[in-house]
Amino acid sequence: MSLSVREVEAIAREAVDSARLERAPAERIGRHLGDPQILAAVAAAAHEAKLRWRGNVVTVSKNVFLPLTNLCRDRCTYCTFAKSPGDPGAKTYTLAEVAEVSRAAERAGCSEALLCLGDKPELAFASYREWLAAQGYPSTAAYLVEACRVAVEAGMLPHTNAGLLTQEQMAALRPWNASMGLMLETTSERLMQKGGAHHAAPDKAPALRLRMHEEAGELAIPFTTGMLLGIGETADERTDTLFAIRALADRFGHIQEAILQPFHPKADTKMRDRATPIEDDVVGWVALARLVLGPDVSVQAPPNLANLKSDRLLDRLLRAGADDFGGVSPLSIDFINPEAPWPKLDALRRRTEAAGQVLRERLPVYPEWLAKPEFFDPEMRARCLARADADGFAIVRTHKDEVAA
Ligand code: SF4
Repeated sequence: MSLSVREVEAIAREAVDSARLERAPAERIGRHLGDPQILAAVAAAAHEAKLRWRGNVVTVSKNVFLPLTNLCRDRCTYCTFAKSPGDPGAKTYTLAEVAEVSRAAERAGCSEALLCLGDKPELAFASYREWLAAQGYPSTAAYLVEACRVAVEAGMLPHTNAGLLTQEQMAALRPWNASMGLMLETTSERLMQKGGAHHAAPDKAPALRLRMHEEAGELAIPFTTGMLLGIGETADERTDTLFAIRALADRFGHIQEAILQPFHPKADTKMRDRATPIEDDVVGWVALARLVLGPDVSVQAPPNLANLKSDRLLDRLLRAGADDFGGVSPLSIDFINPEAPWPKLDALRRRTEAAGQVLRERLPVYPEWLAKPEFFDPEMRARCLARADADGFAIVRTHKDEVAA
């Protein structure tokens, strides 16, 4: 079915005014985002929605990336992070290393320790299982609780993304995390089939990931999710993923942000020859996400991946509804996308201001969440409040040796 620019403008106007873009029009628009005029209308509406709903602030979290272990039992066809024991680069951090990195991050003015790791490696690798047992831990999740505690004691506010966790495991992590996350990535079951990006990744089954989002909601954990763009999904599947996220946010109120992460091909992966989404594709889906997800969910565009595509993309995203840059580190690389260096905070600030907006540092939770005590363990909330200014943003601390700010 065709779609005119005038129709899109009317749909978008209604969405901005009602703070709600419904599914049928979103699906229609999603199928036509390749039309430059439709894209321009959607981006303009998303920008207006962002300014009206969330003001002129764009946020960023100064963090340190702590990949507790890069061993993983899954094999997504786009991933170079996952390793097996004995592979070059395979690494599991000791607790002493966690403490050392966290102390360095605290000195550098970071507030967030991003504990990102592979999924349940103990199920796949006997040598790792034995190592864990020798340390006194029955599972990676149990080891992770201790690592978070160590990071907290060194002055960090952890945000954990450890793949699929049980509700019990999340409950054990909650007192030691300011927020937690799991990329939903996609609701496409098709990508689990032979030849699909998730065929060798049982933990990427959409139903399992949706269930973990629900269980995090039941536990009242401020939660980060997101969608990958360009791993083989269709436009309708992207729309479906956005509406799945919105349904979770509506039901539990715990979704603080959705990351829109464009796939980027890496050498030595099965998807090395697949093209990264074109610039218009990324802008269009960030804009549509803004209109679908409504005022309460932040839309995050990772600035290092935007920069990889073109100099202009970041500026276009700032005019298409993106309101957060996620974590940017003065100390560590992006271990998931090591080819993509973080931009400097000063450069991000200049580019945000050039788009008529203001860059503010946030904690691993967004300012408005600090006014919702039910989403925190009391001691963790007190730790967050101690790092926040009167508006809930991070108290900015710099360090003379900081390399990226
Ligand atoms: S993307 Fe995550 S789950 Fe998939 S192989 Fe890499 S580390 Fe494992």
